[in-house]
Amino acid sequence: MPSDYPAPPPPASAGEPFPSRQVPYFRPSVGEEEREAVRQTLNTDWLTSGPRVAEFERDFCAYVEAPFAIAVASATAGLLLALEAFGVAAGDEVLVPTMTFASAVAVVLQLGAQPVFVDCRPDTLTMDMDDLERRITPRCKAVMPMHYAGQPCELDRLHQIAGAHHLRVVEDAAHALPALYHGRRVGAISEVSCFSFYANKTITTGEGGMVTTTNPDLAKRMRLMANHGISRDLLTAVGVKRWWRYEVVAPGYKANLSDILATIGIQQLKRSEALWRARQRCADWYAELLGPIPGIAAPYVFPNVRHAWHMHVVQLDLSQLRIGRDEFSEHLLAAGVGNSVHYLPLHLHEYYRQAFRSEPEDFPAATAAYDRILSLPIFPGLHRDDVEYVVSCISNIMRRFRR
Ligand SMILES: *Cc1c(COP(=O)(O)O)cnc(C)c1O
Repeated sequence: MPSDYPAPPPPASAGEPFPSRQVPYFRPSVGEEEREAVRQTLNTDWLTSGPRVAEFERDFCAYVEAPFAIAVASATAGLLLALEAFGVAAGDEVLVPTMTFASAVAVVLQLGAQPVFVDCRPDTLTMDMDDLERRITPRCKAVMPMHYAGQPCELDRLHQIAGAHHLRVVEDAAHALPALYHGRRVGAISEVSCFSFYANKTITTGEGGMVTTTNPDLAKRMRLMANHGISRDLLTAVGVKRWWRYEVVAPGYKANLSDILATIGIQQLKRSEALWRARQRCADWYAELLGPIPGIAAPYVFPNVRHAWHMHVVQLDLSQLRIGRDEFSEHLLAAGVGNSVHYLPLHLHEYYRQAFRSEPEDFPAATAAYDRILSLPIFPGLHRDDVEYVVSCISNIMRRFRR
């Protein structure tokens, strides 16, 4: 998602007053603790996966209350490893949301399997569980729900459906640290969950990810495949003692995380609750300040969940406006407010239109939502006066272009 980070500078635009303020779309929160910890790791002789990775994995398990965690190079790599460990291959289908980031679907194709898109709910933009049920075919082997913007999707319903149709479940939890679903931590609910530590995610290592699982066999397979398919267990078992000897038992991937990045992750994880509270506070300010403005809806939050607030996505009521979302977004940027759109649904991307002959009307909720959605700045360092400024700019654009 290179378009999100760093925030693009606002264009000079004739007719717009020079912005009195600049609010970036996103700014990472990296502290002195991270800098000092990285310095310490750089002073050791171990830079790749080693003691810091093991520590990060232990800390992560404890935090999300999952029995197994594997640190990986990215959430994308984690999703690939999960599907591979499920045995997904040519002839299989995997149910994926159309309202998601492209990498989640690419991994399905990379394994030779076929993605089956599922439409979203119009309010939360998470997977529509009725549509999920309708799209299941006998070839479907797995489902990959995504917790859009950081809000858990309807996991109870999802697990009912998955159970009835013998589908494996891997959660794309790239947005969802530290979300809760009915009091439980996302990361300990489904068989596998994949988190992202990409630069703009809720905690970051620059690039990186974590896969959690409740299944020891899957944990073993994913760990093996993340490291070239190299097994040392096998040799230990047959009594080979030569330290330099290793055995490849499968053509694996290169998807491990380095100790340098794990060092950043350990520190970020310690601050995860504090970073979340700061994002929740921003969401509360938006709810309060956007509430009175007609024509724009703050995000709908399900009861009994904790939203991780990776993104704050509002929906424009286009019937009240003389301009579309694209123009709205440009005016906001010209006023100094970084913003973005998540996502152009996958079924509307060039590749999928061609390869799957997908039409906009095949996924009506996602297609319609795409025209209305706008992601506003939200990050721990965002202040109340920044949010007030963002909302006052929105209010001005609304007044200026009201129908
Ligand atoms: C960021 C993101 C990913 C990919 O994460 P990486 O760590 O960059 O591979 C996957 N799915 C969603 C929904 C994301 O937002």
